[in-house]
Amino acid sequence: MLPYGRQSISEQDIENVVRVLRSDFLTSGPEVEKFEVEFAEMVGARHAVAVCNATAALHLAMRVLGVGRGDRVITSPNTFLASANAAIYVGATPDFSDIDGESYNLSADLLEENWLPDTKAVVAVDYAGLPCNMPEIARVARSRGAYVIEDACHGTGGGFIAGEREWKLGGHPWADITTFSFHPVKTMTTGEGGVLVTDNEEWAKQARLLRSHGITRDSADFVGFTDAGDQTNDDLPSGLNEIGPWCYEMQELGYNYRITDLQCALGRSQLARLPEFIQRRRQIVARYNEAFSDLNWLTPPPRPELSQELVSWHLYTVLIDFGKIGKTRSEVMQELRSLGVGSQVLYIPVHLQPYYRTTYGYGVGKCPVAEGFYLKALSLPLFPEMTAGDVEHVIESVCGLG
Ligand SMILES: *Cc1c(COP(=O)(O)O)cnc(C)c1O
Repeated sequence: MLPYGRQSISEQDIENVVRVLRSDFLTSGPEVEKFEVEFAEMVGARHAVAVCNATAALHLAMRVLGVGRGDRVITSPNTFLASANAAIYVGATPDFSDIDGESYNLSADLLEENWLPDTKAVVAVDYAGLPCNMPEIARVARSRGAYVIEDACHGTGGGFIAGEREWKLGGHPWADITTFSFHPVKTMTTGEGGVLVTDNEEWAKQARLLRSHGITRDSADFVGFTDAGDQTNDDLPSGLNEIGPWCYEMQELGYNYRITDLQCALGRSQLARLPEFIQRRRQIVARYNEAFSDLNWLTPPPRPELSQELVSWHLYTVLIDFGKIGKTRSEVMQELRSLGVGSQVLYIPVHLQPYYRTTYGYGVGKCPVAEGFYLKALSLPLFPEMTAGDVEHVIESVCGLG
């Protein structure tokens, strides 16, 4: 059975993890920092902060940007729940702006048309790995005083062309903070894991603090355990404000969002293989596109004119006109499954989830393009270890549906 996505773990990956298992640090050791430096370098950002998963990275992005109660956060309905849930964690109101029918990403035009003044941040999601129109989204958001968070969980290692040069996701100037996921189904994996990248030193520092309970051990940042008034009090036991090597201060409410050295060893090992993963994914996408181009009941994924060669594809999602082939989506998925071909539906529009409908009163018709996309979408197997035979088998199975 071919799943829609799957990790690739080499013997070298395993060796690299085992090496750390035999070392002094299992968590928060040298591998974390090395992974952060290498990842930041790969995307072309100043800072990378690695955390236990990308949901945590999105939550920290909200925290360090000061998003909170009374703020609105707009994201795409065509995404995994985490892009929107992160806003709720900080007390903000999640909201959705529709996708466009070409890229299946946030439409910058609709974002501008439906803008509400309490919007503090936009979370732009690069669906399937295809980059959003970041320059336009940033123009709309920033000219209205809002931040731009890019949820690039699908697009690790990918990029686009703008202003006649190439940019990597995470390394361009049109996002304030970018997040990536290393869940096994994504382009590279650490088991669970995620990272946020930014050029802003203060935000990176704050994210590191919040990643580990808001604890600082840097005495230069200490404010002390008693206030100035207390210190003149003769009854105060001496030594309460003594600074020593045991000291740490909690100045903010943080979390345990740490990632382990084991995971970062795997991350470094996978990062070295990332170009090869992306290359293989592109080859498979190109072969699928060619094979499916003549089917009048199937629409292959969009092909960006300029940036085609730079996309890191996470998903291969086609739109199927189920009416034309006289089968329901369930029947199609069942038929494919019986041929050993897995498929998945990504995504149910987030605003239609029962929690969002009951809590925020959202409903059908709020984002008609995303709702129409959902009714036709089907993601086919795409992962680097697919053999040429696997790819041809998927093609034959899909073409046989019509
Ligand atoms: C996977 C994913 C996330 C969450 O990533 P985790 O590492 O599983 O927390 C967020 N946004 C998008 C678009 C994703 O695909």
